[in-house]
Formats: sequence, C-alpha cells, structure tokens
Amino acid sequence: MKRVLVTGGAGSIGSYVCEYLIQRGHEVMALDNGPSLKVEHLFDSGRFKFVQDSILVKDVVERLVDQADICIHLAAIADPKRYVTEPLNVLNVNLKGSLGLLDHCSRRGVKFVFASTSEVLGKNPKVPWNEEADRVLGPPNINRWCYSTGKALIEHYCHAYGQQEKLPFVIMRFFNVYGPRCDDLGQGRVIPIFLEKFLKGEPVVVHGDGQQTRCFTFIEDATQAVVELALNEAALGQCFNIGSDRETSILELAQTMKRVGGFANELVFKPHLEVFGKSYEDIPRRIPDVSRIKRVIGWEATTGLEDGLKRTIDFYRQP
Ligand code: UDP
Repeated sequence: MKRVLVTGGAGSIGSYVCEYLIQRGHEVMALDNGPSLKVEHLFDSGRFKFVQDSILVKDVVERLVDQADICIHLAAIADPKRYVTEPLNVLNVNLKGSLGLLDHCSRRGVKFVFASTSEVLGKNPKVPWNEEADRVLGPPNINRWCYSTGKALIEHYCHAYGQQEKLPFVIMRFFNVYGPRCDDLGQGRVIPIFLEKFLKGEPVVVHGDGQQTRCFTFIEDATQAVVELALNEAALGQCFNIGSDRETSILELAQTMKRVGGFANELVFKPHLEVFGKSYEDIPRRIPDVSRIKRVIGWEATTGLEDGLKRTIDFYRQP
C-alpha cells in the first residue's frame, strides 16, 4: 500500500487516478483548488482525503508531501483559451506551483510523477514524436507557447533534480485525453466544446480547415498508464508518451461525433485568427510514438475513438 498525493486530484484526469488508486488498495490525498464534485463518491472509502487549496500555498503542499510516498502532479492550467487570456496565471501555477512541489519532494525523497504534455514538442513537423524528438516552438510573444515552455522547464528540473539530488521521478506526456466527467461542457478542449454545441443544437465551429490532427486518448486508458507508471520501478527516471496512435483530423472528429451521437447540427468553419486573435498558433499534426511505454510497462490505448466518444456523449446526455 502506498500513500499517494495527487495534485489536481479533483480534476479531469485526477479524479480517475484517485479512484483507480483507491480500487487498487492505496491511500490517496487529493489536493485541488476546485470543488470536490468529481471525487465525492470516494469520500466513504476510508482511504481518501480531499484538501481544497492551491499548489501555490507552500505550507499546505509541504504538509501533504511529508505524508506521501509518491506525488502524482496533475494540477495545472491546461486550457488553450487561457494560454492567450491569462498567460501570467498559466506560468505562475504551472511553473512556480510545480517548482515548490518538486523542490519539497526532492528534499523528502518522495517520487515525483509529473504530468507533462505533448504540447512541449510544439509544432515539430516530423511525426510521430518519440520522447526524444525536438521541441519546435514559436516565439515567446505568442502566448500559446507559455504552457509548453512552463511544462518543458519542469521536465528539465526533473532531470536536474534526478541527476544532482537523486530525486526519483517519472515524466508523462499526455496526448489529448478525453472522456466522461473529464471537462465541463463547453470548457477547455475541443471534445467538450463540440459536445456542448451538439447538445444545444447549435452550429459546431471547426477552426481553420479542420485538417489539423490530434490523437484522442480515452480517459480510462490514460488512467491505467498513469497509475502503472507511478508504481512500476521500471519507469523511474524516464519520460513517456501516453496516447492513442490513431490520428484524427478535427473535421473527422466533428463528423464522427455527429454520426455517433445521431446529431443533425451544421458544421461551420472559422479561421483561428478570428477565434483566438494574433497571440495563438495552431499545431498542424500531433501523433505520439508509443513504443517506449509499450516496451517498459506493456501499456497501450485500447479504446477505439467511436467507442470512447459514444461513452462520453452518453454520459453528458444524462439528465
Ligand atoms: N478546435 C476547433 N473548434 C473548437 C475548439 C477547438 O476546431 O471549438 C480545434 C483547435 O483549433 C485545435 C484542435 O481543435 O486545432 C484541438 O484543440 P484543443 O483545444 O482540444 O487543444 P490542443 O490539442 O490544440 O492543445
């Protein structure tokens, strides 16, 4: 039995990770500045504690790290719209918050399992990306890249603390995770945004020509990867892509959601510039090479896009 601190534990991925850890017999402390809605079903387990606070509050973070064997650090601002409108908050939470946590984990020898992102590789045109692929980014006056840069810096710190302070760490790079309960409708990323429009019967807005691609990864698959990477000693000191390797264009995503959900909405196109302004740049293709995670812990995504979308749509359709 491990004692696991999950930051962002009441969030999209965090609530699943907490649930899965508890099912597997571990003790979980969830730290989250948001409401406990997604984890209330865990309160009666006897092995779950929820602390509502920010990762920027030093004494809270330190007190929780002191009680943990492993810290799975998922808390972050990860909403592309907010990279443009609140770059300062994105940098403060994702960079300063993570650093405080990392520093204290290192001091206490607590394993640090860091949620990084496929976004660190930016717009590298040579897909698929393995974990050693180059980072190809735009300039710092384009706010989009503040998220990528903050996450990549924490990856650097993990390697540096690992090398100089013997910090045990694992880095996870997520590729477009989605699923039931993950996001609030209309918020954050493309699937909950599309779904809100579908459910309201409003036109679904595809940015650009819709030919940009992503690999959508179902939450249950991603959760298994996170927990296995956190617990398996073979993963220590390395970085792993967590993703499906099925490439889907955004137009195809909209069409698939329309078909799977039996919707009749109109699909309309809007240039990125009109939606985000000048401080944004889209990523044309994003595909993981998942051979490392397959080799080291035997994990691969098994949920098909249609199946995952159906389960997601059914969840949000419930009254
Ligand atoms: N997108 C879209 N319509 C929307 C929201 C997003 O066409 O209402 C596009 C967005 O421009 C991007 C892709 O969907 O090309 C994925 O966007 P998301 O916000 O999910 O995050 P990203 O993968 O870019 O980090």
